[in-house]
Amino acid sequence: MDIRNTARETSAKSNDPLESLAAALFRPMGVDGIYARTALYEEVIERLSAFISRHREPATEVLRFPPVMSRQQLEKSGYLKSFPNLLGCVCALHGTEAEIRGAAERHEAGGDWTSALAAADLVLSPAACYPVYPLAASRGPVPRGGLRFDVASDCFRREPSRHLDRLQSFRMREYVYIGPPREVTRFRERWTGQAQRLADELGLPYRVAPANDPFFGRTGQVMAISQLQQSLKFELLVPVHSAEQPTACMSFNYHQDHFGTTWGLRDESGAVAHTGCVAFGMDRLAVALFWKHGLDVQKWPAAVRNALAMR
Ligand code: 5GP
Ligand code: ZN
Repeated sequence: MDIRNTARETSAKSNDPLESLAAALFRPMGVDGIYARTALYEEVIERLSAFISRHREPATEVLRFPPVMSRQQLEKSGYLKSFPNLLGCVCALHGTEAEIRGAAERHEAGGDWTSALAAADLVLSPAACYPVYPLAASRGPVPRGGLRFDVASDCFRREPSRHLDRLQSFRMREYVYIGPPREVTRFRERWTGQAQRLADELGLPYRVAPANDPFFGRTGQVMAISQLQQSLKFELLVPVHSAEQPTACMSFNYHQDHFGTTWGLRDESGAVAHTGCVAFGMDRLAVALFWKHGLDVQKWPAAVRNALAMR
């Protein structure tokens, strides 16, 4: 698929301001929502990453995860109850040499080789923070002051789209806190404020609003309402398409005791730890920057260039 052609095809129907950015930022890879990134784009991603790092809180452990994680860990986290439709699972050809060769040869003969695939013990990570909770739990009791992590990974969600702010494969950076409920609430409040200051420095228009995850199916609607009622999720929304349908570029999440209970995260006294995270959608933030300030980074406002340490 040629993204530039796609832009022309659809521009008659829509006035999506992001379409004009595609040719400079991305190259097609044959599948909607999967793009190669240009040097111009990656430069901004790297500067954005460094900008976020400069605001890391003290005593935060940095971990970078690969794009895949343990299937068993994600299953145990309850992902299949919430978003089974978005999950990508790694499959491979298992079996004897003859069985594997048979599948490959079916393909050579114009047949279907994929029917021979079987699920491996890996899934594509749908968010950066899932692997950190079992990892923290494996270390024993959560210390008095709690635990802080800075995590990142390539994430996958199976939602093909031609919009540049909805990718199937995108990068997520997160600050995570594990500790007593009061401290998790404070962490999230602190970061909801801090994130708005970061968006100001980046010259992005935004609003912060209560949000819910797109839980799957009819039972998911109940989960979404409950998440809203309990104010468990807020998002920083940037109007890259329109003010009516803004795009979530960051989210501020309170999981209550969900991961603490699932993984046995407890303090010395045995109290279950609560968890929270602030997620930065790196690709959405980069697209938003180009949308707001244009494709010529030399002409970006001095304050924004300064924030991103562009010389
Ligand atoms: P959440 O877990 O809150 O859904 O996602 C965290 C952040 O990841 C979002 O605020 C957003 O910035 C980013 N994100 C989520 N879905 C997508 C997507 O489809 N494409 C891109 N580029 N970023 C996404
Ligand atoms: Zn998270």
